[in-house]
Amino acid sequence: MDVTTASGTREHWAKLKEDIRAAAPGLGIDKIGFASAEPFAELKQMLLRHRERGHESGFEEPDLDKRTDPSLSLERPQSLISIAIAYPSKLQNPPKSEPGAYRGIISRSSWGDDYHAVLRKRLASLESFIRERVPDARIESMVDTGALVDRAVAERAGIGWSGKNCAVITPEWGSWVYLGELVTNIPFPPDTPIQEQCGDCTICIDACPTGALVGPGQLHSSRCVSFVTQTKGFVSDELMRKIGNRLYGCDTCQVVCPVNKGKNWTHQPELQPDPEKVKPLLKPLLSMSNREFRETYGHMAASWRGKKPIQRNAIIALGNFRDESAVPELKEALLRDERPEIRGTAAWALGRIGGSEAAAALAEAKRTEAHPEVAERIGDAERELAKESASTPIQGSRRGNAT
Ligand code: SF4
Ligand code: SF4
Repeated sequence: MDVTTASGTREHWAKLKEDIRAAAPGLGIDKIGFASAEPFAELKQMLLRHRERGHESGFEEPDLDKRTDPSLSLERPQSLISIAIAYPSKLQNPPKSEPGAYRGIISRSSWGDDYHAVLRKRLASLESFIRERVPDARIESMVDTGALVDRAVAERAGIGWSGKNCAVITPEWGSWVYLGELVTNIPFPPDTPIQEQCGDCTICIDACPTGALVGPGQLHSSRCVSFVTQTKGFVSDELMRKIGNRLYGCDTCQVVCPVNKGKNWTHQPELQPDPEKVKPLLKPLLSMSNREFRETYGHMAASWRGKKPIQRNAIIALGNFRDESAVPELKEALLRDERPEIRGTAAWALGRIGGSEAAAALAEAKRTEAHPEVAERIGDAERELAKESASTPIQGSRRGNAT
């Protein structure tokens, strides 16, 4: 049957839809939903308000029409198909983080292979399944080039509801799901959206370390630790303290969600984590070459911004752990690294750790540092040191946990 001759035969498309739903698990898809391809008018207004309030991250597609109108992705679209694949939330036998060998943590959204690649494979299998049955169907897969807001598509297609933590929450899999979608000219009958089930709960909003959830489902992106860990520049003192030992992303508002309790999905082979990679030792990260970084992290979503943000965040974590054993590595970064953000962050970490060796490194750097922002950070770190030594006479009692 082709799309043109079958148009109007609602039963035919309803039957194909059910065939696709039945085939989905065999295609590696955990949940699938169908929705109309009408423009997302309400969402556009919401995104406009989000922009006006300065709450965007800057990583989004800037054209709001492209983000909300499926017809700008595919001419005369009839339906959207949303898919979800579930990912793990727990590490098996996680390595220990301990004094002298502290570790950072990479968000669950980057465990295993880059989810874009995994979703692309699943969507390609789904597309082939449909094309075998409808050879003239027009289909546009939305991973990589996709401008549509996948959470809005998933909500409309009945995959889950939009939680106060801004994640799509599925009753079956919780919010530990990656979302992808297809736009097609096949007029599938739509599924029914799921009722919002957060109720009076505000656990995620209360648990957010930076107050980035400024209201139910409203994220002030530049305050979100997940966003901050992916930036490449200097980070404010306040946010560095709140980053803890996160190297990439932040899962707090999902970890605390009661719907996610006990949910850990281990059936998608590409998404299973290597504990040593996702909870790595911090100090070795500082001297990692580009090649080592590519070989270790190149297949993971966390590598998309390159090595620098992860190294900067590792320095922040060492500062937050107040790891005295890291002073030689931090001194090396402060005095010799070519990247100002790394030098400035190392200065901050040394100020947090304290001690005579850290103070000497800061004094040495101060004599030669020419970059104004790094020089400012060195000054701040020295003031922090002076403040701390005035209030904490016994060195070593300040060592603490990052998160
Ligand atoms: Fe807050 Fe972290 Fe959730 Fe961002 S990801 S909203 S920082 S809890
Ligand atoms: Fe909704 Fe509570 Fe989960 Fe937040 S923690 S998303 S309010 S159920």
